[in-house]
Amino acid sequence: MKFDYTKYIRPYLLTLSPYQSARQEFEGDGSSMILLDANENPFESTTNRYPDPMQMELKQEIAAWKGVEHNQLYLSNGSDEFISQVIMGCCEPGTDYIMILPPTFGMYQVAALTYGVGVQEVPLTDTFQLDVTSILERADQTSKIIFIPTPNNPTANNFDLDAIEQIIQNFPGLVVVDEAYVEFSSNPSVISWLSKYPNLMVCQTFSKAQGMAGARLGMAFAHPDFITFFNRIKAPYNINSLTINAVLKRLKEQDKIKSQVELMLAERHRLEEAFAAIPFIQKCFPSDANFVLIKVDDSSLLYKQLIEKGIVVRNPSKNYNCKNTLRISVGTPDENNSLIEALHSLK
Ligand SMILES: *Cc1c(COP(=O)(O)O)cnc(C)c1O
Repeated sequence: MKFDYTKYIRPYLLTLSPYQSARQEFEGDGSSMILLDANENPFESTTNRYPDPMQMELKQEIAAWKGVEHNQLYLSNGSDEFISQVIMGCCEPGTDYIMILPPTFGMYQVAALTYGVGVQEVPLTDTFQLDVTSILERADQTSKIIFIPTPNNPTANNFDLDAIEQIIQNFPGLVVVDEAYVEFSSNPSVISWLSKYPNLMVCQTFSKAQGMAGARLGMAFAHPDFITFFNRIKAPYNINSLTINAVLKRLKEQDKIKSQVELMLAERHRLEEAFAAIPFIQKCFPSDANFVLIKVDDSSLLYKQLIEKGIVVRNPSKNYNCKNTLRISVGTPDENNSLIEALHSLK
């Protein structure tokens, strides 16, 4: 049976003709041509020309790296832009819902609400795992997208892969698996499931392990029909040429990134051991990422005490089931030493 992507998207958008940018209308190789089509400043610099609207060179490189076809790949201005885009493209305001699993990444809800799209919440279990039964009971034909970040933010743990697969097989809408921390995870990416499950989308980012939060590049992997759809509704030049060039360079530095990831993981273990010896840290939740969630006696107090010592952490205590917790990113060895020292001085 052929896959029909149109049942997942807003019918209204199918009738829309996309904006045609200058560099889309002329499809040849512009490098040997006189370009008088886009009202640019003609005097050469690193940024005087509009970037390739389809980012073909970068997509070829990333597709080869990730083992997918370039037509399964969509690039966004950070994963944040993809999250907004998939909600805007698939959910009818006032009618449809996204489903989120608190405690979860805050952007899904904010993006939905800015588009007038409702949010269905199904909390994680007490061990921060997926409650598959409740998720599938709650889902109905208005549940257009479920967002599953694994490793999860702010809890840092991986979700069980079998549970994720059960959801993909039974959820009525799209399943977005957000793998922002996949480089740190002991679980493999679910990108390899894309050929089996056309209702699956996977997103990853250059913001975390890849060390490029400032460049804003997100990657989304999906069925080619969805990629074509995203290309129709995206802003014409959503990825800028400075970012394209910086990421092409970073793709050649993966050995360095790999050793940085290994160092961060070793440092995370060191922090976990140090936290165990601090009496006001009641618990350090299991992490598969480059941060940990800890439970403390008084998170607001400790947050302020750390600020006074020059250290900023995150207080996610207002999230579901996260009372008196702090979320702490793994820093450099020196930064982590300062954190451990600060915690000892507060004992
Ligand atoms: C940090 C993070 C992102 C990254 O978003 P960018 O817009 O690519 O910086 C996405 N999802 C989760 C769960 C995150 O923690």
